[in-house]
Amino acid sequence: MRIYSGNMRGEKYLGNKRKLEIHDLDNEKSLCLVNNIVFAKQDVPFNSLNEARKQQYKNCSYCIGNLNR
Ligand SMILES: [Zn+2]
Repeated sequence: MRIYSGNMRGEKYLGNKRKLEIHDLDNEKSLCLVNNIVFAKQDVPFNSLNEARKQQYKNCSYCIGNLNR
């Protein structure tokens, strides 16, 4: 589910700044705990996976999987 709080303004991808992990909010799983990330103020918005990769973010294995392997 897209998020409109914290740093998020409805972007497709949410990065966890502390763990350097990227989540796909259109395929979010309960194990992603994205609300906790926003609550902890570790959320970074991304519009594309490429953008996140350039900043060394890794795919969340629950909602994206290891597509880059
Ligand atoms: Zn995830």
